[in-house]
Amino acid sequence: MTDLDIAKEIELKHISSIAKKLGLDANSIEMYGKYKAKLQHSVIDLNKVKQSNLILVTAISPTPAGEGKTTMSIGLSEGLNQLGKQTTVVLREPSLGPVFGIKGGATGGGYSQVLPMEDINLHFTGDFSAIEKAHNLLAAIIDNNIQSKTNSLGIDARTVTWKRVMDMNDRSLRHVVVGLGGTTSGVPRETGFDITAASEIMAILCLANDLEDLKKRLGNIFIGYTFDKTPVYAKDLKVEGAMAALLKDAIKPNLVQTIEGNPAIIHGGPFANIAQGTNSVIATRMGMSLSDYTVTEAGFGADLGAEKFLDIKCQSAGLSPKAVVLTTTIRALKYHGGADLKKLTVENIDALEKGLPNLEKHIENIKLFGIEPVIAINRFITDADAEIEIIKAYAKKNNVRVALAEVWAKGGKGALDLAQQVIEIVESSDSEFTPLYNWDMDVKSKIEAVATKIYGAKYIDYSAKAKRNLKTIESLGLDNLPICVAKTQKSLSDNAKLLGRPRDFTITVREIEIAAGAGFLIPITGDMMRMPGLPAHPASENISIDNDGNISGLF
Ligand code: ADP
Ligand code: MG
Repeated sequence: MTDLDIAKEIELKHISSIAKKLGLDANSIEMYGKYKAKLQHSVIDLNKVKQSNLILVTAISPTPAGEGKTTMSIGLSEGLNQLGKQTTVVLREPSLGPVFGIKGGATGGGYSQVLPMEDINLHFTGDFSAIEKAHNLLAAIIDNNIQSKTNSLGIDARTVTWKRVMDMNDRSLRHVVVGLGGTTSGVPRETGFDITAASEIMAILCLANDLEDLKKRLGNIFIGYTFDKTPVYAKDLKVEGAMAALLKDAIKPNLVQTIEGNPAIIHGGPFANIAQGTNSVIATRMGMSLSDYTVTEAGFGADLGAEKFLDIKCQSAGLSPKAVVLTTTIRALKYHGGADLKKLTVENIDALEKGLPNLEKHIENIKLFGIEPVIAINRFITDADAEIEIIKAYAKKNNVRVALAEVWAKGGKGALDLAQQVIEIVESSDSEFTPLYNWDMDVKSKIEAVATKIYGAKYIDYSAKAKRNLKTIESLGLDNLPICVAKTQKSLSDNAKLLGRPRDFTITVREIEIAAGAGFLIPITGDMMRMPGLPAHPASENISIDNDGNISGLF
């Protein structure tokens, strides 16, 4: 059975009865049909947030297919609910790029899914479209200002870094020239498109505390320079009010349900390799205001999503996770141990043992933050019992908690051991969250802290451009911002080919981008792709809809 087949078998509850589980009556939610609703800001209660337990789900360095963090997060929240802990899972929204590309959706899988999965994966409540519009409004206003004679800021078009965005994998839009067609059609300049999830507005929406804060951050977006080298921000174009107005509904988190009828809050979707990789601060606070346990996911491996979650989001929003679940798959560890990607389903103890150092490094990293980890083995039907025993023995030897999780096959029932261990960690209060670095350290020291302690790098190399960027950042007074390193998810290093636990490598910082609105700096390592392409046979070839509106072929 496919994920969609399983999802279709479930009889959905009306969203008002899910809201009721959170103590919200039907009048306090904004319904989008029968199965989706938006939650209002008044739901947040910061005192409750302080008392609630936040659990972060992360993973080892992933293989191309994803290691099942979303599936694990959903299954764990079902398991915690089964054990009598009132729990909400808080996740990101899927981007249409991966939906039609290779990876698929982001609504979990098997018997651990959020529903209605067709809606969530396709447009959902329109948040991404609103982000796209707000982003492109700023782009249009910039080009309009460059064109204008009476309202000109004197922007040097060659310095404008703000592109346009679209929520689609469309490589042919990566580089474009706009403004062709003569004097009435703009000033020609080279620019390009990014995917919407990579927009700084996405990062901003996910870090904003409320509409006022959103507006302020939008105004702080840095777009380039004038001819006399004065920095230009979105607020200089008086556009932040209109952008915030376009986002008035997108800023509200979405309530849906899990397969077992528990609440799920889904909001925002920044990627973890180029942005902070977690859902919104507002959504996390809502989950925590309304439940005893909140389970959330940070994208890609713990070196990316979890580090950023802890150093950027938690520091910015004053959150302290109580436990970290490290999703691990036997197949990914075998891949790290040198097994062929096509043969990961074949038992291979040797490769598995060789891949363990990747797991070991991620465990060390979580401990660096003072939080107790638990390894969750995401069981695939092809995993051999002997292979599972290897990981259990490793955990025992190293005194780390481990649980076999069969959330994909069994839903919450498959997560009871994991849920029990998470409860034990929370109740023992052994975790004391400490960030890796302080924001007010200088930029190079922050980069060094992440690169050497988390990635395991020995040296850091700065290109000439990166050195110039460091000076610019200092001159703009932005050196006290946290850093959000853009790095490949495939390796702990910045070289996608170095699997396992690479050592003694050099990280090269090519340039450092400024996301002054989001409130972080982006040291870029390796070649980062902000507009993915589609594979030769995209997933869209299988997707269709019949005359009654039934969708098929969506994973
Ligand atoms: P991540 O959040 O780490 O990217 P997902 O939870 O989205 O990963 O899972 C990626 C894909 O793998 C999904 O299509 C999901 O259905 C599938 N998957 C996850 N866990 C399992 C499992 N134990 N067995 C089979 N398929 C799984
Ligand atoms: Mg995921």
